[in-house]
Amino acid sequence: MAEANEQVQQPEMASEQYIDILYRLQQANSEHDRLLALLGDLPEEVRDLEDEIEGLHTRGKKLQAELDERTLRMTNMRHEIKENEAKIKKYKGQLETASNDREYDSLNKEIEYLGLDIDLHNKQIKDAKARNEITTNELQSTQTHIDAKKVELEAKKEELDTLTASISKDLELLQQKADELKVQLPLRLQMGYERIRKNASDGRAVVPISRGACGGCWNRIPLQRTVDIQTSKKLIFCEYCGRIIVYDRVVEENESKISK
Ligand SMILES: [Zn+2]
Repeated sequence: MAEANEQVQQPEMASEQYIDILYRLQQANSEHDRLLALLGDLPEEVRDLEDEIEGLHTRGKKLQAELDERTLRMTNMRHEIKENEAKIKKYKGQLETASNDREYDSLNKEIEYLGLDIDLHNKQIKDAKARNEITTNELQSTQTHIDAKKVELEAKKEELDTLTASISKDLELLQQKADELKVQLPLRLQMGYERIRKNASDGRAVVPISRGACGGCWNRIPLQRTVDIQTSKKLIFCEYCGRIIVYDRVVEENESKISK
């Protein structure tokens, strides 16, 4: 008989212990989540800045390539102008010794054509110079932009590193604590806890009962279940959100203080 009684009582004791472990496991996980949340948007901001700087570098390279290409074209055109000028000089010399009108006209036409070509090249060089001025300004402003973003990035990185360093030890300890607590639970409870936690938007699988409602979704809990929760005799799941509801003396005491 005594043996039978023990067998009946064991699950009840175990249930209370499990609830306590689940409660402490949730506290460790919630604190872990809270610390990670301290990093806020910093990791994303650092990544965004790195991407932006890379984009600006690409733009800078493109602008530099445009400048180089146009400068090379100007050099070639200046060279052609010089060649044309030399030809004109030569043809003008030949004009003096032209033996007939046909040769004379032909040389004149050639001189005129070379002159027009020089004019065209001079105009193109002028245009290219003007465009290079614009490109140079764009390149300079891109570089200024890069420098400013780099300063911003360094500041954000430093902030992130400092924050990460300040919480990394605590994160590690909390993870260790959570791991130690978790292995004390039967596998089905471990898995159930993780599943509920993953599905909960706030990462809480275990919530306190609060003014007769589920502390996760705020739906009312039937009175009989409230009693079960307060006595920790059974594991009670919220029938609306599926979270595990536990009795938290601290929460209850604070609330009775507020209602008074
Ligand atoms: Zn709920």
